[in-house]
Amino acid sequence: MPLTFTEAQLGGERVGVRCDGGTIAAIGPNVVAAQGDEAIDAAGAHLVPPLVNGHTHAAMTLFRGSGGDLPLMPWLEERIWPVEAKLDEEDVYWGARLACAEMIRSGTTRFWDMYWHPEATARAVEAAGIRAAIGAPLFDATSSFEELRDSALRSLEALSQFGPLITPALAPHAIYTVSEESLRWIGELSAERELPVQIHLSETEKEVQDCIAEHGERPAHYLDRLGLLSERTILAHGVWLDPEELALVAERGATVVSNPAANMKLAVGGVFPYPAAKAAGTAVGLGTDGAGSNDSLDLLADLKLFALAQKHAAADPTAIEAGEAWAVATGARAPLLGATPLEPGAPADFLLLRPDAPELGIGDLTSDLIYAATGAAVDTTVVSGRVLMRNGEIEGLDEIVAKAAERARRLGL
Ligand SMILES: [Zn+2]
Repeated sequence: MPLTFTEAQLGGERVGVRCDGGTIAAIGPNVVAAQGDEAIDAAGAHLVPPLVNGHTHAAMTLFRGSGGDLPLMPWLEERIWPVEAKLDEEDVYWGARLACAEMIRSGTTRFWDMYWHPEATARAVEAAGIRAAIGAPLFDATSSFEELRDSALRSLEALSQFGPLITPALAPHAIYTVSEESLRWIGELSAERELPVQIHLSETEKEVQDCIAEHGERPAHYLDRLGLLSERTILAHGVWLDPEELALVAERGATVVSNPAANMKLAVGGVFPYPAAKAAGTAVGLGTDGAGSNDSLDLLADLKLFALAQKHAAADPTAIEAGEAWAVATGARAPLLGATPLEPGAPADFLLLRPDAPELGIGDLTSDLIYAATGAAVDTTVVSGRVLMRNGEIEGLDEIVAKAAERARRLGL
């Protein structure tokens, strides 16, 4: 049934927005509900585009609050890897359902995921009604090229069975956990099948030093030589990319996704150089990373951290302005992430903010969204013309929280 919201606020006007068949059929001051539409009064609520989480590991909600103050390697070796070895499909499904609920609640309608049992994440995404590009994490540090190749092809086959909300992707974990041979093959497969690729890159200074010692070049140059730097590539982190690498990433059309909260929590010792990336013309997006290292999936809260970290690192309060930070978080600064425009013919994916949100009552809306609001300001989340949250309520949330907690207990977390 077509769905029409009326009396919402957009750019100082009162507007209606009519959704039909998953797209925006009409939007503007004169748009009203047609006969037979489901009509929702959105009086006073700001209509805004949704956020894109460019890098996460959704099911890691199960690991939230576990070993969060440990250094990186003991955290991975003692808390994460032994438990991940026991994970089954149902664990990942309920962990990802919880992640989807948290993202819907805080205004994210699309995310990029790298995690075990990717088809369980895809099932969770479809049940939740949001969108995701999903890839199985690919490693061959302790296995062989053949095993990595079989696992990649198997997961792509499984992910291709899902509907239009799911985009299958390749997700080599990092340059220090995947061999040169495998990375080369992943680059070729991505080009042949036009598959997006997501990889962690230049998260720590040690990773850069090790890359130079082993391959004689910095990480972005290494990836480029293996054919992995293209307009289909997402580089998560990029904290230690230098200006020359940023120029190369820009030339190849690849995207860097900054994860400021996870970088600060794991204390990587640097800030993603956004002003240099902007000067080089590099595409940039924003991500939360997994709840194991953040611990929240509230991208709106992380957007404030992103903007503040940039200003602080540059010792310059004009290093990034609110409108630009908002563009990064909505995907408008990276063609691969892609913003969702509020216009006829676009997918009917959008947010309505709480009309009574106290932090949005005074001042410029964009500025308030970056510096004052968190995801709690979101009232209604719509994806493909379906209402996934209304008045801050998500159907079935109690069951999702209970099931995820039960799975975490089963794993001894
Ligand atoms: Zn990550």
